[in-house]
Amino acid sequence: MPKRILVIEDNPANMELMVYLLKAYGYALLTATDGESGLAVASREQPDLILCDVHLPRLDGYGVVRTLKRTPSLRGIPAVAVTALAMVGDRDKLIEAGFDGYISKPIEPETFVAEIERFLPGSAPFHHRAVEPGVLGDETETCLHQEKRRQDGDHTDR
Ligand code: MN
Repeated sequence: MPKRILVIEDNPANMELMVYLLKAYGYALLTATDGESGLAVASREQPDLILCDVHLPRLDGYGVVRTLKRTPSLRGIPAVAVTALAMVGDRDKLIEAGFDGYISKPIEPETFVAEIERFLPGSAPFHHRAVEPGVLGDETETCLHQEKRRQDGDHTDR
């Protein structure tokens, strides 16, 4: 049985991308486009993982996760916020509200599935997807570059 993932997202382009990527990796998808119907689908279907936008009609992501974590039959399902919020305070607020983690938008097709799988209990490790050497190389180079700048006294990226 494939793992079932509920995506609650009101932006059609983001929804389409997430559904496309997750289906490509063999997951079964459930979707909702507002917070209230997201909660209804969650309690009816008991998915393995919930990915939830923060800005949603009818009930926002904070309201969704508060209800999820207050409901005994739902609180065990990992809930991950998918959000463009970049401020540290907002991240803390997401975790405080009950989210198990967050993924930032824009969604990166190369890393999205690996990111969500960190929150999926019992999922196979991400080993069957090879990381392209160039991608890893660039990232390492960027880190080294930033570290060097820090050592040189440049703190602009903090
Ligand atoms: Mn939204």
